Amino acid sequence: MGLLTIGAFAAASRLSPKALRLYDELGLLSPARVDPVTGYRLYSPDQLERARLVAWLRRLGMPLARIKAVCVLPPPAAAREVASFWAQVEADTAARRDLVTFLIEQLSGKEPAMSAATKPLQIRYAALSDAGLVRESNQDTAYAGSRLLAVADGFGAAGAFASAAAVEVLKRLDTDRIPAGDLLNVLQEAAEQASQAVRGVAAAEPEPDQSGTTLTGMLWTGSQLALIHIGDSRAYLLRAGELFQITHDHTLVQSMVDDGRLRPEEATTHPQRALLLRALTGTADSSPDTRLHDAQADDRYLLCSDGLSAVVPADRIHQVIATVPDPEHAVRELVALANRSGGPDNISCVVADVIDSAG
Ligand code: MN
Repeated sequence: MGLLTIGAFAAASRLSPKALRLYDELGLLSPARVDPVTGYRLYSPDQLERARLVAWLRRLGMPLARIKAVCVLPPPAAAREVASFWAQVEADTAARRDLVTFLIEQLSGKEPAMSAATKPLQIRYAALSDAGLVRESNQDTAYAGSRLLAVADGFGAAGAFASAAAVEVLKRLDTDRIPAGDLLNVLQEAAEQASQAVRGVAAAEPEPDQSGTTLTGMLWTGSQLALIHIGDSRAYLLRAGELFQITHDHTLVQSMVDDGRLRPEEATTHPQRALLLRALTGTADSSPDTRLHDAQADDRYLLCSDGLSAVVPADRIHQVIATVPDPEHAVRELVALANRSGGPDNISCVVADVIDSAG
């Protein structure tokens, strides 16, 4: 089978020669042969399929590193990668859409819309934190109230104080006095204060950068949820039977998955899976991410520390969350599952159901 010039291959693949040269430089698609005298790139016709795949993935907006990873996978695994990329894009878009709605409402001086037909929603909740079976102390903090849900996973010499201090700051927001339109501002301010509080606690330690905490919290106004998040504790949403992780781990392994350098299934066993890229510490200047999220009746939220999510398989968590009706029973069952798997870490869970106040 004859090799094609870059021009002929470009025409056959409907890609420009410029794009093909770029793909070569990026290692996405190397020519079958480069003429040693002229330096011309020559392609084999059986490279057409790969060229088209690269072009399609570029059109989806997939980052180059991730395209590189997809291209070397067998088709079923590549299909799963594309699906997981797209799920992430849709989650990001949904988060931005919520923010856009919020901004439009705020700029036009309106309170967030709540249709007359919709009754105000309430939450029914439970929180449980357990030391597990291996650690001597519990450095996690879990909290659930009528307006606030939070989990923090402390680490280092002052870990327990750090997680308690961060949650304590958020607990000041567990009141009925937050107007929905101010939610994001209030939360951003709380994020700053939580960061300061942890710095204060950890600064007294000999190694202030080694003590700190994760923080994942949800503040609730009756129609909207604001999410605050830093580290590798997680928030999940159960909606229509599906369980979605709505926070993004600030870990080394997650960043490697995002860049296409690691497959999601490899992340769970990676030796450095616990390494945090961001957390509240005695020296960190990073404050938590904040964003808004629309709540619906019958939604169920789970907040947990990695003592649950890194120990109990996702399908088991999903099963408990989807089948145990009472939040109190659900948190107890989740903690028991982690302990039955050896309980290597502190375990914290918060489960909250969004319910019609009439119901
Ligand atoms: Mn932990």
